[in-house]
Amino acid sequence: MGNEWSKQEWFSATRNYIESQIRSGFVSEPELTPKTLPRVETSTKALFNPFPKSQIPTQVAKVSGDLVEIRTQMGDCTRCKLSSGRTNIVYGVGNPKADLVIVGEAPGRDEDLQGEPFVGQAGKLLTDILAAIGLSRNDVYICNVIKCRPPNNRPPENDEIEQCSPFLQAQLASIAPKLICTLGKFATQALLQTEAPISRMRGSFQDYKGTPLMPTFHPAYLLRNPGSKKDVWEDMKKLHAELVKITGKNIQRKGS
Ligand code: URA
Repeated sequence: MGNEWSKQEWFSATRNYIESQIRSGFVSEPELTPKTLPRVETSTKALFNPFPKSQIPTQVAKVSGDLVEIRTQMGDCTRCKLSSGRTNIVYGVGNPKADLVIVGEAPGRDEDLQGEPFVGQAGKLLTDILAAIGLSRNDVYICNVIKCRPPNNRPPENDEIEQCSPFLQAQLASIAPKLICTLGKFATQALLQTEAPISRMRGSFQDYKGTPLMPTFHPAYLLRNPGSKKDVWEDMKKLHAELVKITGKNIQRKGS
């Protein structure tokens, strides 16, 4: 009884099998629709899979173009398991030519319902933090590593990050911001390809493909730990100073 598969697992195994047959050339490829776009193989249960696990072709999307083209390439994405539980893909919002891109972790409930990043409680705090350094949400571009809401807001899993990261990287390549600010551990570690803790990385500029990147604490963490707001303010002052220096723009921030 305990080893019986659910409908979802049978469906997943069958799809894995058909996709592996297509990739191996045993059967011809159907018209490419978003439902048949390549995914990373994650299931070790895939029945009938003719490939030993080590030989399973791993394909992660290659994405490029402007923000609209990247969104088109994402399509009605089913590359990872989060697609089954989402209401909306939360792609990103703001200025497509922004000097500063803010990268969060993954949509929460409000974001999933509205299709826009950082619109819940943490989002309100982010909006206030931006205002404190003289920026509105429309001045910057805001997006997440993961574009679909994980169930019960659990942390993103590695396969989900792997499938979604190419879209974030393409968004950053398209916008070509002068600065990036990552919010929290997942965004920072995903872009910098490191496992270093956020508490060690925050507050000093890191390098993302030649662009200075400031890691700081996530606003949701600040809601639970208001004592860390002073650290984020220190990080934001550095970010603001660098933004003014790099762009030469007169951006007035609040306070001291
Ligand atoms: N937390 C995030 O990391 N991103 C959002 O869009 C909302 C909350």
